[in-house]
Amino acid sequence: MTKRLYYDSSDTHEFDSVVEDVVRPSAEQSRPAVILRETAFYPTSGGQVHDTGWLTVEGAERLRVGEVVDAEDGRIVHYLEPTAKLPPAGASVHGSIDADRRREHMQQHTGQHVLSAAFIELYQMPTVSFHMADDYCSIDLATPAVSPAQIVGAEKRANEIVFENRPVRVRYVSRAEAEKLGLRKLPPAERDELRLIEIADFDLSACGGTHVGASGQIGSIILRKSERVRQGTRVEFVCGDRAVRLARRDYTALSEAAALFSAKLWDVPEQIRKGFEDSKVLRKQKDDALDELAELMALAALHSQPETNGRKIVVRAFSDRDIGFAKLFAQKVTRAGTPTIALVASAVDPPGLIFAQTPAQTSGGAPGSATDMGALLKQVLSSVGGRGGGSRDFAQGGVPAGSNIKVERLLQQAAGTIGS
Ligand SMILES: [Zn+2]
Repeated sequence: MTKRLYYDSSDTHEFDSVVEDVVRPSAEQSRPAVILRETAFYPTSGGQVHDTGWLTVEGAERLRVGEVVDAEDGRIVHYLEPTAKLPPAGASVHGSIDADRRREHMQQHTGQHVLSAAFIELYQMPTVSFHMADDYCSIDLATPAVSPAQIVGAEKRANEIVFENRPVRVRYVSRAEAEKLGLRKLPPAERDELRLIEIADFDLSACGGTHVGASGQIGSIILRKSERVRQGTRVEFVCGDRAVRLARRDYTALSEAAALFSAKLWDVPEQIRKGFEDSKVLRKQKDDALDELAELMALAALHSQPETNGRKIVVRAFSDRDIGFAKLFAQKVTRAGTPTIALVASAVDPPGLIFAQTPAQTSGGAPGSATDMGALLKQVLSSVGGRGGGSRDFAQGGVPAGSNIKVERLLQQAAGTIGS
């Protein structure tokens, strides 16, 4: 088993050791790795993410440690970059861990102890798991819901513990002793000796992670989103450096939004709400205006079009209106009362065609005189490789994107087919 220097001191960032074993790259693992006699590198475990850093082999290069893993046999495996030249077993090394990264992890991890204890103290909500991601952390609480007031309450209590700068101590006890102490969390029975982390007069739990020496070093604890998950409720939070970084990022985003509205930060939600309302009204006004325009254009087109064989044929290509308007126009033309066939197109990208006719029942026209719009559209489009279809009375389609096909020519072709 590797001796773990971080058990006794979370502040040991530099250490000397000896290479005990090396792991050469294999088919399953492309990175070489080393195992040391003792190490200050923390391996990923208990929700806390591993350290990174450097190993300097005497008389040789510095090796980057990219990942640290706790193997099942109790050895700590330091993974190096794929190109690293492995030192021989027995070589002396000097280890340096990335102190900023470690401190940030200790803030999150100790913050989690405080927060979990606060949720127990105030609301009797036990923590079932802890997760540390790149830019946030989360705990899962065994409860179906956490109210916004409880989020604020737990955050307030956790920060009180931070501000009181309570000592955080490590001690070792036997399992039998630990059972009498009433720990917040007792690990599964594996070892006889347990490592306890005590936040003075507030929390006592068994943990193998790295922690700050006093609660003030956590910095501050900010709770963010909470959501329902399978095993309860997940609460996201950030501490210390991470809290400052995220608050800075949020502030920058909110400031940009506020500048766009020429508003104060806290007025942004109201401005957005107002913007939504305004755009809803404008969209309604635009739809109404287009409907009226289509109606008037349909009436004008029908008025100027003579009736032949008991029906009118309206042919219209729009160069400046989209297919949605073409469809609206075709509907107005075919529902105005006179049996009508509308052959309509929009040249606006993507160009499209609408073929519609007044349904036989409502027009009172003889069904035999009707043309099948779906079939007509398919026939016209097949000559140019377009796609579309529809029913007997209404069909819609498009010509291939980017083609030079003139929709006017397709309308003339369709009109010619009906007319003949
Ligand atoms: Zn811990």
